[in-house]
Amino acid sequence: MFETLRRLVQEVNDSPNLEQALHVIVQRVKQTVGADVCSVYLADPVAHAQVLRATDGLHPDAVGRARIPFGDGLIGLVSERAETLNLADASRHPRYLFLHETGEDRYRGFLGVPIIQNREVLGVLVLRRHAAQPFQDDEVTLVLTLGSQLAGAITHAKASGELARMQDADDREDLPSHFLQGLPAAPGIAVGTAVVVYPPADLEAVPDRIAEDPVAEEETFRDAVADVVEELERFAQRISRELRAEDRALFDAWLLMLESDMLIDGTVARIRAGNWAPGALREVIEEHARVFDAMEDPYLRERGSDVRDLGRRLLMHLQKLEARPMTYGPETILVGEEISAMQIAAVPRECLAGIVSATGSGFSHIAILARGMGIPTAMGVANLPVSRIEGREMIVDGYRGRVHIAPSAVVRGEYRRLRDEDRTLSDTLDGQRHQPSETLDGHRLPLYLNTGLVSETRPAGLEEAAGVGLYRTELPFLVRDRFPGETVQLSHYRNVLELFHPRPVTLRTLDIGGDKPLPYFPLQEANPFLGWRGIRITLDHPEIFITQVRAMLRANLGLGNLRLLLPMISAVGEIDEARRLIQRDAHELREEGHAAELPPIGAMIEVPAAVYQIEALAQRVDFLSVGTNDLTQYLLAVDRNNAHVAKLYDEFHPAVLQALVQILAGARKHGREVGLCGEMAGDPLATPLLLGLGVANLSMSAGSLARVKWVVRSLRYQSLRELPDRVLSCEDATCVRRLLLEVLEAAGLGGLVRAGH
Ligand code: PEP
Ligand code: MG
Repeated sequence: MFETLRRLVQEVNDSPNLEQALHVIVQRVKQTVGADVCSVYLADPVAHAQVLRATDGLHPDAVGRARIPFGDGLIGLVSERAETLNLADASRHPRYLFLHETGEDRYRGFLGVPIIQNREVLGVLVLRRHAAQPFQDDEVTLVLTLGSQLAGAITHAKASGELARMQDADDREDLPSHFLQGLPAAPGIAVGTAVVVYPPADLEAVPDRIAEDPVAEEETFRDAVADVVEELERFAQRISRELRAEDRALFDAWLLMLESDMLIDGTVARIRAGNWAPGALREVIEEHARVFDAMEDPYLRERGSDVRDLGRRLLMHLQKLEARPMTYGPETILVGEEISAMQIAAVPRECLAGIVSATGSGFSHIAILARGMGIPTAMGVANLPVSRIEGREMIVDGYRGRVHIAPSAVVRGEYRRLRDEDRTLSDTLDGQRHQPSETLDGHRLPLYLNTGLVSETRPAGLEEAAGVGLYRTELPFLVRDRFPGETVQLSHYRNVLELFHPRPVTLRTLDIGGDKPLPYFPLQEANPFLGWRGIRITLDHPEIFITQVRAMLRANLGLGNLRLLLPMISAVGEIDEARRLIQRDAHELREEGHAAELPPIGAMIEVPAAVYQIEALAQRVDFLSVGTNDLTQYLLAVDRNNAHVAKLYDEFHPAVLQALVQILAGARKHGREVGLCGEMAGDPLATPLLLGLGVANLSMSAGSLARVKWVVRSLRYQSLRELPDRVLSCEDATCVRRLLLEVLEAAGLGGLVRAGH
């Protein structure tokens, strides 16, 4: 047996290509072992199946056609467990799958051996026998040895593109409808052609090198910064010409980073210390990006990739590389491991149909941009075969975060129909952008904007929102290497108050803490979400609070549209203390000669303790704002950033709804308005319920405004008064969702939360 094996290995190694190697294996193994069939199935992520690639014994026509969907049948079992399966009678196994195209049903004995390389199962080698008896140990050993030999040849064929070419030659028209699952990032349907993009320069690969002429290096670096600033401004202009002016926001955030001390001063300091410019830049970018990477808040964590993106763009200019000029056909679907806003901006708007990224999430800048631009997007698509899909037909279902590659004619036809319906809906939504947010029977539900995390220069949704319901003030604190002073903060706040004037702008005081650490304010906590965060930190450090409040009050001078919101309130004492400090600040400002007014002060309700004390809190503030993101997490004891329990996190859990009822009832007794500013506010499915409950206003990200407004404008307030009672009779979130979907469907609005209208 050993000699046979040696010769066989030699023959496999000598094969000029994979096809030949497979052919040799199936023939020789069948002969040597005395089996009736020997076949090789290889994993094909596009077909989402193990596909028959070579056989001696089955119908030759089945090669490239017989597909066993991942997870199905005995071959699925071998691949799942990465273990050999040796059976006397395959047909008696519960996982046995009958495939008529192979003619395999005549055989009983089964041996399946996984072909593994670097822990990845590449395929399965299968032997079959008429007789109902298992294979012997030395036969199994031989096949195992050949399997490992084959793994090398397959890996080589994968790297050289041979395997992909082989798979591409398959007739895929009859493929069952399978898809790759990602995260929904921007709603809508796209059917188009994949254009793969990749980063312009590899910053991580830059080595440290001693700068021979630090002065020249510094000059080159500053020139590169100036070039990138110019380039970004050009892109931003192009975007604002082709799209809405608000979409500039993302570029403003980058420009803000480019001007920040951390980037320029940090890199220059390293150049002066002896490193050449690319090395110094790599260090600074990596250091800063890592701070974001470590954050638990998924939104802020995404900022790490923005920092790296900017770093790559700077490196490209340092190295004087030009981006490869690309041509984009109609219905382009931009695909990449990681996609940058600059790559999006490079595609003419009329050509861009969809975006698919292997990394990222709905919190990414890209997702925000895509939602603003109305481009169906899926992010975080696991197992996306990026290197193999250039020029392929693709479908993006942005509602469900699904991606279909090389779809069958039936799937393509169905999605084209859904896309056309979707486009009609988008046109309708666009047409009502400037209409009031009012139900059919005249009940108003003002829609505000959540902003602050991207940029304060020109937030998306600027024109259509009733004001800002939640301005998160963390960003100016995060992009620096020390706490920003009163003047820096003043200019940020003034800018946003002026932009929206005379509409109200709710500035929330700093909500940093364990999940959003500042690089210069280290926190080490075992339970960060139950730790030192939000108001707890700022009251313990009144100097931070006072500086921020003074900046807010000064920004409000002569405008009067400021509302001040306190995060993470869990006890009345926190409000009393905060109010005392705010009043003192206003008083001091007046003493300094400024006509500072005391703005309306609100509390965020995002901790269960605050729900139970709602009346005591309501009496101490001017308004209340429910932060459903934190409230859900604290009520259900589910960290929503933890993948193991993420499916338990649900804002439609009856406990969350009961809490809302209690908050509204308590606030009503004291004549206080309750708004809602968590993600739930932007979910069209929640709108009928929130209307029925009597929530006074909703605050959401820009991309949700049009859809929620459409729901408001399509419903009759009076007919929703009974809805809360019905919904509250539900015992779980599934029941709640079903009832709410029925309401939307009855109003012809189901299309806002799923594909197909
Ligand atoms: C919330 O918790 O719902 C909220 C709006 O605050 P943040 O998401 O900033 O914690
Ligand atoms: Mg919160």
